[in-house]
Amino acid sequence: MCRTTAYYQHPDERLIAPVIYLDHAATTPVRREVFEAMKPYLTDEFGNPSGVHGVARIARRALDDARERLATVLGCEPGDLVFTSGGTEADNLAVTGAALHAIGEGAAAPLVCCSAVEHPAVLGPVTYLGGLELPVDRSGVIDVGMLRAVLDVEQDRVVLVSVMLANNETGVVEPVAEVAALVHELVPGALVHTDAVQALAWLDIRTETASADLVTVSAHKIGGPKGVGALVARSGARERLSPIIRGGPQERELRAGTPNLPGILGFATAAELADGERGDATRRAGEQGGRLLAGILSLVPGAVPAVQGAERLASILNIGFPGVDSEELLLLLDQHGIAASAGSACASGAIEPSPVLLAMGLTSAEAKCHVRFSLGSSTTESEIDAAIKAVAQAVEHLRR
Ligand code: PLP
Repeated sequence: MCRTTAYYQHPDERLIAPVIYLDHAATTPVRREVFEAMKPYLTDEFGNPSGVHGVARIARRALDDARERLATVLGCEPGDLVFTSGGTEADNLAVTGAALHAIGEGAAAPLVCCSAVEHPAVLGPVTYLGGLELPVDRSGVIDVGMLRAVLDVEQDRVVLVSVMLANNETGVVEPVAEVAALVHELVPGALVHTDAVQALAWLDIRTETASADLVTVSAHKIGGPKGVGALVARSGARERLSPIIRGGPQERELRAGTPNLPGILGFATAAELADGERGDATRRAGEQGGRLLAGILSLVPGAVPAVQGAERLASILNIGFPGVDSEELLLLLDQHGIAASAGSACASGAIEPSPVLLAMGLTSAEAKCHVRFSLGSSTTESEIDAAIKAVAQAVEHLRR
């Protein structure tokens, strides 16, 4: 378990206190064990795994070993893993790689589809390629009936359907197995991709992603380093992808470039640790998340969870505070040493209403009142209690 070492200075009381970090869905601190596993490969063992000499062979062995360890955690073959610079690149490789391959095979107008609540790393390439966004219900769960209708009409064009395993803003778990069964039945030639970046630390990833042809994961959400991720591209699916980064023959010619060996070793170590701790971590997050929600609902009049009734990750809690601007609330919480988040920052740094909440049917005004609290393995009960108090006070102050 690792603790945040960030500190803040309270503006009035001149107190120095540790930050209460409730933004683990944005990123997590690198765990000590992960750092130790990476260290030798940043210094002494610096070889390029592609070489033929002894220095290179040490690096190659380490890369093979990390690939095997991560594959075991993910329930895939080592050869299925394509290491990337993170979740964003893996998502882009899945979506754009499927479309490029289809074009190379002579498809005139390949169609990629995704749910309307995907991360921008999926929505971006889908939009760029003129793809389709599928609607979601009030909880943010994909409308499978609409997907069926699209597949019926567009079966000659659809090459990929992307539906995330767990949403980064609400934690909602999507019916990936149901989607995959439908796509494979109606359009056997299409690939099913799932972005499992947020789910990796919390769900049984082997079973939850078993039906998908392509799976995106990222290290920095699970105590690993930033700038490393992977796309699981299973045999049969891999052959239907074209690379988006061309050059050397690395990663079975699906991703050129010298692999980030220290990052990959860190990723494998973080994934094994998360896998071993998943049961306890999920139980603790369930208790703490429940406590946070109940505390806020009891102390803040009108507070409303974004998701009610649907299955979601216990670690992500999205709550609306009617009458309060989320950006002002976040700034006030920050002054009191609480780190949380909302929506996504636009180029100017201002917070835009979350497209995820808009897709769920909230108005722009409603969406602008929502804040995301995301818990991690280091979150403690006393932090939860302090956060409840701080949120209640901040909301009361802003409503005055
Ligand atoms: N997909 C989801 C669901 C995410 O939450 C994120 C990061 O926030 C990404 C993809 C992008 O991953 P990375 O930061 O490794 O590029």
